[in-house]
Amino acid sequence: MQALSIYNTLSRKKEEFKALNPPFVGLYVCGPTVYSDVHLGNCRTFISFDLIYRYLLHLGYKVRYVRNITDAGHLEGDRDEGDDKFAKKAKLEQVEPMEIVQKYTVGFHEVLGAFNTLPPSIEPTATGHICEQIEMIKQIMVNGLAYEVNGTVYFDVEKYSSEFNYGQLTNRKLEELLEGSRELNGQDEKKGKLDFALWIAAKPETLMRWPSPWGWGFPGWHIECSAMSRKYLGDTFDIHGGGMDLQATHHTNEIAQSQACYHKTPVNYWMHTNMLTVNGVRMSKSAGNGFLPSELFTGNHPLLDKGYAPMAVRFFMLQTHYRSTLDFSNEALQASEKGFERLMDSYTTLQNLKASNASSENITELQTKCYEAMNDDFNTSILIAHLFEAVRIINSANDLKTNLTQADIDLLKKIYNDFVFSILGLKTEESNQKTDAALAKVIGHMLDMRTRAKTEKNFKLSDEIRDKLIEAGIQIKDTREGSTWKI
Ligand code: AMP
Ligand code: ZN
Repeated sequence: MQALSIYNTLSRKKEEFKALNPPFVGLYVCGPTVYSDVHLGNCRTFISFDLIYRYLLHLGYKVRYVRNITDAGHLEGDRDEGDDKFAKKAKLEQVEPMEIVQKYTVGFHEVLGAFNTLPPSIEPTATGHICEQIEMIKQIMVNGLAYEVNGTVYFDVEKYSSEFNYGQLTNRKLEELLEGSRELNGQDEKKGKLDFALWIAAKPETLMRWPSPWGWGFPGWHIECSAMSRKYLGDTFDIHGGGMDLQATHHTNEIAQSQACYHKTPVNYWMHTNMLTVNGVRMSKSAGNGFLPSELFTGNHPLLDKGYAPMAVRFFMLQTHYRSTLDFSNEALQASEKGFERLMDSYTTLQNLKASNASSENITELQTKCYEAMNDDFNTSILIAHLFEAVRIINSANDLKTNLTQADIDLLKKIYNDFVFSILGLKTEESNQKTDAALAKVIGHMLDMRTRAKTEKNFKLSDEIRDKLIEAGIQIKDTREGSTWKI
């Protein structure tokens, strides 16, 4: 296994990565809150962790990648107050909250599919794990670190801090955190300024509610990730990720909940992606500066000059290291689009290169440098610089200015397959078209065979062919003129 060093938010330094139980890796990433469309900023985080997942798989680790869907428990305010986001949207669109959840979950999958991200191994939902969340809250109460007021259960941050280090993830002392937070007022039920809700009592109008030892209510946002990561990855697992905006509150509270519940540190490596910004301002739903992926693909946005293919956008994201901010602009996108085309064009050139007897390039060294870049905290920015060195070599061999042996050409193909396609997760639009064309041909052949079987009165075979096509998700329509199909 290659020596991989990753940046750990908890220790704020790069560390040699040691999976808990090599070669097994537990990876948990906070997923989307599905009350609206994901914007490109969200996509940046999910694409970054897709890259990390892909590289760990490439290195030969067996990875269990858990990415949750937040489909309950998200209030408008950060202070356990305001309307539930799902209920509010449901009222607005005059549908059930679960229709909102379904609609935006499907949209999320479509967008990530367009960006060619791999599906996680498990995608648990908050609403599917209410029992596990209640069990954790009960245990935190038994351990004396949470209290109930009028059916709402709060985590007691100050009491927790007498035993544990609450601000460890941001390296901040309790006093500093207390100083920086809003004073309680007469309407607050909680005892301490930093206390947060583990369970929230339902109001008469609350639509999404569950029974609990404290009455009808719903879980707070932070407890879902503690409960689901523990259920699928164990008390302590390898990597927990998410955007940097989750570090100070959501992830800080996750650590506190797990420690308070079972007295173990839940995560070995905390990894946080930096933000996608627009003119230096973080892209967010609340700031109203969020670009939707569909707007980017079609170019249908007042600030865009034109549309961009999903792979050009993925390439744009990966050109910057995940821990650096990335500013979104037409110019930057256009430059990435050109770069992506150059990278793909030289792959086509590579297929037709003629081998020489001698070599004037060191391709093995180039491959080593690609690994070194990825092993250094997944540095895609440097990796891509090395891949452009491959582009230079290919183009120069094509112009007969450089000699490459057959072994060099084969190794360059391997570098493309490993780093460009498998690890960076890029693909050519042409390869999509080719796959589609091949699929259409196969389906056509199967339908011809079915027609022949029918003519020969071999109905067993003709039915079997029909059933197999249906099983593969292909709808067949028989008409007098022949059969048509669609996926
Ligand atoms: P949300 O649906 O708001 O819970 O966000 C889903 C994920 O996207 C979280 O991991 C966030 O940290 C991340 N995220 C939100 N805004 C941005 C942004 N502008 N750039 C990168 N990641 C973001
Ligand atoms: Zn989370």
